[in-house]
Amino acid sequence: MTTTRFAPSPTGYIHIGNLRTALFNYLIARQAGGKFILRIDDTDKERSKQEYIDQLQRDLEWLGITWDRMEQQSTRLDLYHDAAQKMRDMGKFYECFESPTDLDLKRKKQLNMGKPPVYDRAALGLNDEDKNDLRKTHDGYWRFMLDHERIEWNDGILGDLSIDAASVSDPVLIRADGQILYTLASVVDDTDMGVTHVVRGSDHVTNTATQIQIIKSLGGNVPSFAHHSLLTDAQGGALSKRIGSLSIKDFRENGAEPMAIVSMMVALGSSQPVVLGNSIDELVANFDLKNFGSAPTKFDPEEVERLSTSWLRAAPLAQVESDLSDIPPEHRADFWAMASQNVEKRVDIKELWDLISKPITPMIDEADKEFIETAMSLMPVGPWDDTTWKTWSGAVKDATGRKGKELFLPLRKAIMGREHGPDMGKFMNLKGRFH
Ligand code: GLU
Repeated sequence: MTTTRFAPSPTGYIHIGNLRTALFNYLIARQAGGKFILRIDDTDKERSKQEYIDQLQRDLEWLGITWDRMEQQSTRLDLYHDAAQKMRDMGKFYECFESPTDLDLKRKKQLNMGKPPVYDRAALGLNDEDKNDLRKTHDGYWRFMLDHERIEWNDGILGDLSIDAASVSDPVLIRADGQILYTLASVVDDTDMGVTHVVRGSDHVTNTATQIQIIKSLGGNVPSFAHHSLLTDAQGGALSKRIGSLSIKDFRENGAEPMAIVSMMVALGSSQPVVLGNSIDELVANFDLKNFGSAPTKFDPEEVERLSTSWLRAAPLAQVESDLSDIPPEHRADFWAMASQNVEKRVDIKELWDLISKPITPMIDEADKEFIETAMSLMPVGPWDDTTWKTWSGAVKDATGRKGKELFLPLRKAIMGREHGPDMGKFMNLKGRFH
């Protein structure tokens, strides 16, 4: 069965770049009628926080991304230790003792000599006695010994890729303090959970090469991999510098619409235009990784605002019902027909409802006093309805000779108490029911 996963590390709030990863994996699973797993990569005890786990679930739910299974790596440590033992037994796992400073020095030397900074496997030269001596002063860390061959795969976005394993350092899978590192936990989980497709950012391409070898050595099935481009700001700079301000949580708090965000993110960086949908399910059928390219993808947060407003203005009543709870149900459709044309964000709904439900303080300029008096004398008798504005403004026009802005603006200011606002016809029709 097609099985995908989204595997955030709960060390911060998820941001717009993570959302792309989540969404692509989600859509692949849904399209195939498969499974989508939310996997919390929390083997880093110090940096992982429950608060981030809670928030990322809220964020995904808000976006309409649902998962079929949730797992936390911190509860699966035994599995990773078993796999480590298996690799030790196969002679593929070796203990090293260099400190971070030693490694840094090695890298600098290599770079100075114009060589790639690949770990030199010096630890393989240690005999048991050396290791015992070293263990007295510090704990060892563990590396997987890569076979020096070319690692090849057909990437779902980048096409045929081939990486020379000799150009990559043997990956560290367990730290000296015993912490299981991402690569080990991830390959064990991908195999154990039957993950068939992995989409992630192109910053993971080298990891993928090493993970393919590790999965094979553990006897697992290698998933299909695809690496999407990374997002950049409008100038092409790395987004990460500003990531704090681009969390999903912040977008939500700033009034962005979830469907605007997902509709945008499913099109950005692809050959497809943005089509604003009403539910994430509508995006499933048309999703195709083949539409995405490898070039860095520019992301403009203002576009989210623009699309959110467009989405909201076109939203059917059912989509905003929860924001209309103060409004008597029988008036909601007319209210939304009026308000939807004037909202930028959902918070604006309240202000527009106040305009209907609360008394208005008329705005009448000194110069318009007489004009408004005449206008008021021409107000049709009886409750205001959907014809009132047209009839009234027509009568005022005929009586005063005013037209255009000269006519409409003072009338609006007198009736609505403001210069800009909803359509006068719709407004008077609704207002008539509440005053
Ligand atoms: N926790 C990893 C990350 O957030 C997951 C990468 C992966 O999809 O394998 O980068």
